[in-house]
Amino acid sequence: MELAKRVQSLTPSSTLAITAKAKALKAEGHDVIGLGAGEPDFNTPSYIMEAAKRAMDEGKTKYTPAGGIPELKNAITAKLKRDQQLTYTNEQIIVTTGAKHALYSLFQVILDKDDEVIVPAPYWVSYPEQIKLAEGNPVIVSADESTDFKLTPERLKETITSKTKAVIINSPSNPTGMMYTKEELEALGQVCVEEDILIVSDEIYEKLIYTEQQHVSIAQISDALYNQTVIINGLSKSHSMTGWRMGFAAGNKEIIKAMSNLSSHSTSNPTSITQYAALAAYTGSEEKVDEMRNAFKGRLDALYDLLIDIPGIECVKPAGAFYLFPNVKKAADGCGFDDVDGWVKALLDEEKVALVPGSGFGSPDNVRLSYATSMDQLEEAAERIKKFVSKYQ
Ligand code: PLP
Repeated sequence: MELAKRVQSLTPSSTLAITAKAKALKAEGHDVIGLGAGEPDFNTPSYIMEAAKRAMDEGKTKYTPAGGIPELKNAITAKLKRDQQLTYTNEQIIVTTGAKHALYSLFQVILDKDDEVIVPAPYWVSYPEQIKLAEGNPVIVSADESTDFKLTPERLKETITSKTKAVIINSPSNPTGMMYTKEELEALGQVCVEEDILIVSDEIYEKLIYTEQQHVSIAQISDALYNQTVIINGLSKSHSMTGWRMGFAAGNKEIIKAMSNLSSHSTSNPTSITQYAALAAYTGSEEKVDEMRNAFKGRLDALYDLLIDIPGIECVKPAGAFYLFPNVKKAADGCGFDDVDGWVKALLDEEKVALVPGSGFGSPDNVRLSYATSMDQLEEAAERIKKFVSKYQ
């Protein structure tokens, strides 16, 4: 049977693919260091797990409203008030099965066939695929180290056509860790308001920032931008809850209502137990979040220093998230590889270090290293990369 055209061009997530390959090598007994994972290595804080256990004991194991339980929506509106000074009503919030599902539903409800969404590259791997699944066209606008991987208002303006529906802003960014300043968001936002483009603001790495810079949501900048923005966020990265599948979207109530209708016919609702765990996370202390952030910061500083010491590797120091996105083109050329993908493959085969090639993120000269693993492993990985590079020179 022929599969639907919609899924024929769908590529599997490159980040999940490399993680799977690293796991398979590990299972064969190889000493593999996996720097591919997009998830924190810490366990979920215990007060969140206790809340989930309590929910089960109390029988909160049934269907919930499709868009989430009211108590959790209240907690999310309180979070948005506390952290972003933004006021939302519960009708403007939908709880979803991870931020990924919030994005998926959003594209499904805003895009008609051939509508365009501007996706700044380097981008998170699922954006283009999700847009295509909604029959839209992802329009990739590339940026490199020369603009700190940032989309500029000029580039945004010249890319907009009569078919442009939305632009994605992901700050801090996966894979680069780059963060926009308030002024940069203001300038991008002005173009979006002038051109009447919806802003999809993916703020999933909001809590993982390692500089003095404060996180600003583009929706905070003006009433016009508040009206024009759908915020996407969740607990996977901030509270180390990737497996629980908990995300949300906040924005225009018509959009949110359409997303809830869609959920009612697809997932029915996010897992009830997860929702009670999320309620504890959003109403609890952020002490554990701060602890995890501090650990990430120590690892970032250490790994960054080790990496930039390796010949042929150049790296902009990220402000947030838990990735480094060095340009390794010179190292790959020096080792005699035609492209960085080949270099990454050989590094895994020969030195058993798993990185994700930048090609999956729209930046073929770069690689993504996740430092969501122990300091010992990071130091060993840097040592092996150094050995690999010097072996060929
Ligand atoms: N957005 C970005 C930029 C991400 O990196 C990820 C996860 O890797 C997500 C969204 C999805 O997160 P979740 O686990 O909440 O679906």
